[in-house]
Amino acid sequence: MLRVVPENSDQLVPLNPAAPDDNSASLKSRPLFGLDAPALATVLAGEGEPIWRAKQISEAIYCQYITEISSVTTLSLDLRQKLASHGWQIGRPAIAKTFQSTDGTERYLVQCRPGDATTVETVWMPEGDDGEAGDGTDNEPSVAPPFPARSEGRVGKKAGALEPSHNNSETNPWRRATICVSSQVGCAVNCQFCLTAKLGLQRNLTAGEIAGQVVAVLDRHAVRVGRDRVNLVFMGMGEPFLNYDNFMAAVRLLVEEVGLSPQRMTVSTSGIVPGIERFAQEPSELRPKLAISLNAPNDHIRAVIMPINRKWPIWTIMDAVRGINLRPRERITFEYVLLGGVTDRPEDARQLARLVRRTGLPAKVNLIAWNPGPGIAYATPDPASVADFQKTLIADGIPAYIRQPRGRDIFAACGQLKRTIEG
Ligand code: SAH
Ligand code: SF4
Repeated sequence: MLRVVPENSDQLVPLNPAAPDDNSASLKSRPLFGLDAPALATVLAGEGEPIWRAKQISEAIYCQYITEISSVTTLSLDLRQKLASHGWQIGRPAIAKTFQSTDGTERYLVQCRPGDATTVETVWMPEGDDGEAGDGTDNEPSVAPPFPARSEGRVGKKAGALEPSHNNSETNPWRRATICVSSQVGCAVNCQFCLTAKLGLQRNLTAGEIAGQVVAVLDRHAVRVGRDRVNLVFMGMGEPFLNYDNFMAAVRLLVEEVGLSPQRMTVSTSGIVPGIERFAQEPSELRPKLAISLNAPNDHIRAVIMPINRKWPIWTIMDAVRGINLRPRERITFEYVLLGGVTDRPEDARQLARLVRRTGLPAKVNLIAWNPGPGIAYATPDPASVADFQKTLIADGIPAYIRQPRGRDIFAACGQLKRTIEG
């Protein structure tokens, strides 16, 4: 049965869509957040300061989650005042509004820059949605091995004096958590089942705006990088591989400056082949894991629900994915949204299993029951057909997991992220 989300729900936020993005304030300000270590060194050199101070700034904004220059007490008061008087500010994206789900999920509207009306959505899922499971990485720490945390066991400022622990349930109400990150405002890809598609593409996010969503959420939950289990999924609004340079620059910041491991990050793409080809060239110490939004068992159905398939059909995607030099035990994830009566039939499951086997890739399938959105005429599948679909895949030798819809009541679930409604 088709479930339609009421347009007047108070969990959808009426922002004034006519309000122009006010960039005037952000043009005058000079944000430090988003700059990597060499760029921070250039700023300091330009201020006539020793470049080793870049490390102090980086530590303050990316590790201690400090948001005001005046609070960076590792810098002298004079230097803080000089930087501020020259227009420098930390300028980290900020959580402007929070929606809390009964299941613990939180959805945030994140204001990209001070003085800019642009907001994007970011989601915190304590316990995740099971989409990360099954690849053997869940017991690994979240710290990046080649770029060890500079102060081992360092903590966000709110977590101050916590004792080292490998089980964050001692100090936090969650054992592991997943942050779902947006890469664009809206999306140009036009998948027929996705609410974000209805926005069209409004703009690309910068590296600082992508990484800033993560740091704002780490700060809110006092996450101790290197100790707490946190996964990132680039599965929020937008198509990361159509904003490739900024997306990968954000990953570099998150790995090299924040200290997160790329092996605990997953980027999802609708199948942008040139992006996958570039991704295959990234060094493994920086490359997140890859998920492909397959969503259909053949080109015929896929082209209807994902028009982008006409440009890059399934086997062009698979050929590009085969160019990736996978790490030991790493698997490609195929995401598969089950649309009732369209892609959830037993023959779809059998065909999907054959397709995945033919790729020859180490792979798993994440099944996602379609989440409804206003004005989208698909149906949520029956729970029984989702369970049968999974059984068929498993019986055919394909690892398959059902992703739990998290935060449906606050429109935080997959494909429900949308910035505005008619206000
Ligand atoms: N643009 C990227 C990442 C964001 S979408 C991509 O498409 O992969 C993240 C996931 O949400 C994709 O797998 C997509 O197929 C899925 N999705 C989109 N709309 C959905 C909906 N209404 N219900 C369930 N999953 C949805
Ligand atoms: Fe864009 Fe992904 Fe939604 Fe498709 S599913 S419209 S690529 S956000």
